[in-house]
Amino acid sequence: MGQVRSGILGAAALSAGALAFAGAPPAEFIEILGQMHPEYRAVVGEVRPGTTRHHPAGVAAGLVRSGGRDPLDLRDAPRAGAGVHNDIIVYDGAFREGGGDAWRRLIVDHEFFHALHLAHGVEAPAVDFGDEGVNRDYYEALAWGYNLQRAGDNSYPGLEGIAWRRMEARCVEHRDQFKLWLQREHRVAWEHYGRFFGDLCGPATR
Ligand SMILES: [Zn+2]
Repeated sequence: MGQVRSGILGAAALSAGALAFAGAPPAEFIEILGQMHPEYRAVVGEVRPGTTRHHPAGVAAGLVRSGGRDPLDLRDAPRAGAGVHNDIIVYDGAFREGGGDAWRRLIVDHEFFHALHLAHGVEAPAVDFGDEGVNRDYYEALAWGYNLQRAGDNSYPGLEGIAWRRMEARCVEHRDQFKLWLQREHRVAWEHYGRFFGDLCGPATR
């Protein structure tokens, strides 16, 4: 079981910079999570509100190790390993004010995917590439790609066009950065990892 050196495995909010007041239990987040993934407790420990008064810019939620508090603190970085449980920190203001119902479902699903991935619950391996930025590109590309697939399956009914475009942009950006690094540093490895990225960020059915 290892620590993933990534600053944040989080979901960005549509709008950033709002104050987030600590203390309120993220009830809506937990409710949506339970509806979408009744089995979520297999990979998610606790869902807790963020403890910082100012939430990180553009972030509505993030993953931390069990008991961790700050998704931006590397010491609180989530763990990877078969069956591992990580916690989700929710910045309630950004979560509730960042977009509509569809966007909130998307954010919840995004964090669930990170937790599932780190617990070895998806095909793509949970790898530490030894570089914070590279790790982030790898994990975020896969998570946004998952969101795109799920959006195509109408898991977020009523999702607006701008949200689609943001999702696609993030997927493409992180995938391209990861691909660039891997092809430069470990050319042969792209043949292995590339299969997880095939048409990941491509046009989904909608
Ligand atoms: Zn993420």
